[in-house]
Amino acid sequence: MSFDRTLLPDPASYFEGQGLSLKGPARAKWKTTTCNFHGGSDSMRVNTQNGAWVCMSCGEKGGDVLAYQLKVTGAEFQDAAKAIGAWIEDGRAPPPDAKPSPLSARQALSVLGFESALTAVAAANVGNGYALTQIDLDRLLLAANRIRRIAEVFQ
Ligand SMILES: [Zn+2]
Repeated sequence: MSFDRTLLPDPASYFEGQGLSLKGPARAKWKTTTCNFHGGSDSMRVNTQNGAWVCMSCGEKGGDVLAYQLKVTGAEFQDAAKAIGAWIEDGRAPPPDAKPSPLSARQALSVLGFESALTAVAAANVGNGYALTQIDLDRLLLAANRIRRIAEVFQ
């Protein structure tokens, strides 16, 4: 049982799967997107070739999509690697059509914690008179959907 870097998902697909919309010229290696760590609408740069990411505003950064998964979920290394399909059990990769494993309670709590912090930041911005962009509003909708989904799973 071990982490297998060659199984890391394609960075662009992974980041889009995280609800991020990647902006920039089609051939550009680095794309611009939302930073979910501080709530900036277009300060995150992600590398679509190696998965590296850095926020030009708050400075959060990592070298690959696993680092992003770890940061965004607060999960343990092994759980994060499993969640993105880069963990091998018993010397074999899980079959490609395997259903994603259900969220553990700890993972669910970390998602809830992250999404509620993000929502609180947005609410504080509104309270301070800053208008939210469409990207911010879309991200808030995603937060609401994730929270509702977790509520459904744990019913
Ligand atoms: Zn940031």
